[in-house]
Amino acid sequence: MVRRITLGNGDPKRLFIGGLHGDEWRYTSSILESLDAPGTGTLIIIPKLTDRAYISTLDDRYYDYGSYGRDVIAAIVEIKPEIYLELHSYHDFDGLTDPGRIHKAGVPAYIELDDGVLIGSISPILRRTCFSMYDLCLSFEIPAGNRKSQRLARELLEFTKDCVSRDEFLDFLLDRYPDQGLRAIENYKRFYGIEKI
Ligand SMILES: [Zn+2]
Repeated sequence: MVRRITLGNGDPKRLFIGGLHGDEWRYTSSILESLDAPGTGTLIIIPKLTDRAYISTLDDRYYDYGSYGRDVIAAIVEIKPEIYLELHSYHDFDGLTDPGRIHKAGVPAYIELDDGVLIGSISPILRRTCFSMYDLCLSFEIPAGNRKSQRLARELLEFTKDCVSRDEFLDFLLDRYPDQGLRAIENYKRFYGIEKI
């Protein structure tokens, strides 16, 4: 059984997950464990999904029977979060932020907010399986072992866990990071073929 932390109660429900593959939990689990209870609703945290070998969440095998992604899907089906967030850590800044990523990996490039903290979309496999296009699903990436990035990520997660709606998060993003926010939203709309968000 994967360890969960439940903070607060009632709606809305948010689910934050770290340690999605390989050793990235080393750089992200303590951030997730340090979060406080939300002002309203529930925050459920899975600080370390797994420490088993790295399989990309873009790979079908991640969600295959017996694989780590099965636990993610089971948690989402059970909790039905309105806000879903993955916290990853990376070594390959150039690969994740490459504007050609859409052609190479089939998903939009991540966008840097500040201090190496990147924002992007979750795996389209998970998105299609578990969410509607209008749910708020976020993926943050932070560089492995960078204190400044960890501080900023914690701050962003503290804010996100208090959001009660997708729009509240988008307003915050556009207010604090106008350029990056617009690019992230444009990527998202283009990727999912949505006219209006
Ligand atoms: Zn990852």
